[in-house]
Amino acid sequence: MREGYEHLGEIVVSEEDIRKRTAELAAELAADYSERVPLLVGVLKGALIFMGDLIRELDIPLEIDMMAISSYGSATSTSGVVRIIKDLDTDLTDRHVLIVEDIVDSGLTLSYLKRSLLARNPASLEVCALLVKDGVRRADQEVRYAGFHIPPRFVVGYGLDMNERYRNLRDVYIYTGPEAS
Ligand code: 5GP
Repeated sequence: MREGYEHLGEIVVSEEDIRKRTAELAAELAADYSERVPLLVGVLKGALIFMGDLIRELDIPLEIDMMAISSYGSATSTSGVVRIIKDLDTDLTDRHVLIVEDIVDSGLTLSYLKRSLLARNPASLEVCALLVKDGVRRADQEVRYAGFHIPPRFVVGYGLDMNERYRNLRDVYIYTGPEAS
């Protein structure tokens, strides 16, 4: 195994699973947004790859924007305190906004993000997350469009990192190295 990849455990969600599920989510979204033009808001950097794949499956008029946030805390757990590093370029007033997230763990990041975007008076605000961790004290966040429910382990790949590595992997893996929870 190549050096640097020795901390990859089993594959939790494969490339093929992601491809199929993304197409299903896109079909659901296309039906729900058939009469509205959604603004998809991708959360950098983790949602970058999912966003790219999702919009290519979505055969409806849509717009995208990206924002970057950073959460304080250790490498593998969130404190819930979030800072906007790059804000949106788009005015959200009366827009149908869909947050596109990579993963929801405690839900604290999402909770902050929703509050912050709701304050900008969108016409609607929903969430699409590729991964939702099971069995975690979730800050009661409804994720209307959820790709996969996964065990509460730290995962990497398909946009998700550990210290900025592994984002380029096509599958989602359990991370087994140091600092993993
Ligand atoms: P939450 O606020 O829901 O606890 O955490 C959400 C954020 O923490 C995600 O957007 C992501 O950046 C990071 N995160 C949570 N769980 C994981 C994980 O298993 N792997 C990686 N790479 N990041 C995670």
